[in-house]
Amino acid sequence: MPSSAAAPQQSVTVIGLGPMGQAMAAAYLDRGYDVTLWNRTPSRADALVQRGAILAESVEHALLANELVVLSLTDFDAMYAILGSTKSAKSAIAGRTLVNLSSDTPEKARAGARWVTDLGGTHLTGGVLCPPPLIGTPDTSTFYSGPREAYDTHRAALEVITGKSDYRGEDQGLAALMYQLNMAVFWPAMIAFWQTAAIAGAHGLTAQEIAPYVTENFAGMGHFVDFYASRIDAGNHAGDVDRTAMGLASMEHVVHTASDAGVDTAFPEAVHDIFRRVVDAGHGADSFSRAVELMSRPAA
Ligand code: NDP
Repeated sequence: MPSSAAAPQQSVTVIGLGPMGQAMAAAYLDRGYDVTLWNRTPSRADALVQRGAILAESVEHALLANELVVLSLTDFDAMYAILGSTKSAKSAIAGRTLVNLSSDTPEKARAGARWVTDLGGTHLTGGVLCPPPLIGTPDTSTFYSGPREAYDTHRAALEVITGKSDYRGEDQGLAALMYQLNMAVFWPAMIAFWQTAAIAGAHGLTAQEIAPYVTENFAGMGHFVDFYASRIDAGNHAGDVDRTAMGLASMEHVVHTASDAGVDTAFPEAVHDIFRRVVDAGHGADSFSRAVELMSRPAA
């Protein structure tokens, strides 16, 4: 007779059931976890409860149900609103590991971690790098930072959410920082696409028609990033392959193309303004990477 003991049942609590929290809870159900849920708006748990998840009757019960608690909230203030709402909820934090996957600043993440730690809990900060439909898939990743031991202990459970994880270090702010750096690229890049779609639309071209060209443009960005990264680190802004004066003229053409098309020009004007400030500072003959210096301090 085989005598192997059955593996202990894995379990997790998910607090916050926006699109991300719902996808995470679903991924845990898919992997056979016992899942306990809590959300300010309880109806968002309905489909998950039908699949076998348990909706806790209070935040306190949700916390006490499992040692591993995943938070997926709009920001860190929502964590205080939920977990700090009652004395009993606050005291239920003791002994739990809270994996906070809510977006916020590095400073807010550090302060949130201190708050949890002072209440006797363990905090890990996380920054998820994929949209809800890709949660639970292998080629996705999440930044983590905080106590290494907690990350190592829960790594397998965390990699149910995204197939890969990128541990950045003990400083609780690091995962938030890496996430925000990602967002600082992502949002302007997407707005650049919306701008392109608006101009193209004014000329009778659909977003789908221009999409392959935009995709090709984005795909080529890696070469520019690689090329300029080492020059930025070396403080080399020689105008040997590009000049800011050229960039200024080029952005002027984009602004005029947008205004001639009768669409919003706020976004290209903001970019144009950065080139103009570099030229006004006497760097028109330098590479447009010179803008990094200008952008490394508050705008005048
Ligand atoms: P949502 O903002 O849609 O989800 C918000 C969740 O936070 C809901 O459960 C909401 O409760 C709860 N919440 C917000 N404020 C409060 C409050 N004051 N009190 C109690 N509960 C509150 O976000 P997503 O699910 O889309 O994302 C969750 C996190 O993941 C965010 O920080 C987001 O930046 C990040 N993220 C999102 C991605 C995406 O594509 N969606 C991709 C990568 C990261 P209720 O249901 O009651 O409103």
